Amino acid sequence: MLCAGAGEVNQPAGARSTRRARMTPDPARALRVLNEQIVACRKCPRLVRWREAVARRKRRAYRDWDYWGRPVPGFGDPTAELLILGLAPAAHGGNRTGRVFTGDRSGDFLFRMLHRAGFANQPHSLHRDDGLRLHNAYICAAVRCAPPANRPRPEEIANCRPYLARELELLRPRAVLALGKIAFDAFLALLVEQGKLPSRAGLRFAHGASYRLPGELPRLFAAYHPSQQNTQTGRLTPAMFLGVLRRIRRYLSGSSGAGRPAPLC
Ligand code: SF4
Repeated sequence: MLCAGAGEVNQPAGARSTRRARMTPDPARALRVLNEQIVACRKCPRLVRWREAVARRKRRAYRDWDYWGRPVPGFGDPTAELLILGLAPAAHGGNRTGRVFTGDRSGDFLFRMLHRAGFANQPHSLHRDDGLRLHNAYICAAVRCAPPANRPRPEEIANCRPYLARELELLRPRAVLALGKIAFDAFLALLVEQGKLPSRAGLRFAHGASYRLPGELPRLFAAYHPSQQNTQTGRLTPAMFLGVLRRIRRYLSGSSGAGRPAPLC
């Protein structure tokens, strides 16, 4: 089933697409196909019920919205060197707008920071047609359906893992930024399951941590999730988050020089 709005990836950008084109003939097309599969997924009965019930009930402030109410696919630059991995769509954020981190407070913070660090063309993310473009970054979530109380179950994270595996295969990012411990654990669990990482011993989640992983695996960076709870209590400040993004930017700019994001704003 092809759903409207599925597979919303940027068009490939000039110089970076050269490196990526050597790996995947048409990453934008492959990601669109994957995103159509994600949007049609009904593997988790509890989450299917919840996402659809929220979409029917709506929040009063959004009663005029036609809620998305389906899995929320990845979004961004199909030649990205940075994959940003979140937890799951918010019930009245991504589950309403159909785009990851779009329409909620977490997204307000995240895209403001990405814009300041040169990874996004604008500081806001309101709806799927708002003109947002990511530079050298692609965003997805460990779980693609909004979970009750923002708490997915382990089996739901496992059900969704093949989609992350496919995104990593297509993008082959040089860096992964895990937003929060659940995303961090989901990424490492996938690598262990695939036999690419013997164990996750010594890899502990902490804001600002970064780990060099074996072989050609991407460098792993960790940050607190930009949830309202974290940003409003001061547990995560703009300076803390920008610090991580700037380290990633330096890392990506460090070798070939290809794929540098836009200058800092
Ligand atoms: S959470 Fe993932 S695996 Fe489960 S129904 Fe949604 S898209 Fe499918």
